[in-house]
Amino acid sequence: MVPQDCQTVDATHLVLKILPHALNAKVRDRSDVLGAAIVDESGSSYYAYVFYERVQGLAKERRLGSALLANVIVHELGHLLLESNSHAVSGIMSGHWSGEELRKISEGNMFFHASESSVIRDRLISSQGSVFSEQLAASD
Ligand SMILES: [Zn+2]
Repeated sequence: MVPQDCQTVDATHLVLKILPHALNAKVRDRSDVLGAAIVDESGSSYYAYVFYERVQGLAKERRLGSALLANVIVHELGHLLLESNSHAVSGIMSGHWSGEELRKISEGNMFFHASESSVIRDRLISSQGSVFSEQLAASD
């Protein structure tokens, strides 16, 4: 059973699915890919995926526990909220997590850059504004 609120998918109702395995052959062939976000050019970016088996494998190998899963979820939601498939050189939106990034994850030190946080905040404020104005219009 799906809760009522989960039936809506839009700018204020994003979907992140934790899948056991990678989605398609393109991703399956790249063992370093831990998740994916579907970012539409038009800006309607609502779906993200995390590949659980890969995350668990790396987490176990690097002794990261559930911190890696949490950071992958945040990274993929970050793509949806930033409406971009781009990666940063460093921080939680960096595209390749090796020694430095995995160390930061283990320390709980992986963050968005201030500019990324600002874009996300602005987006959330503007989409909440549109939801509130729709609700106000519907209640008239
Ligand atoms: Zn990414």
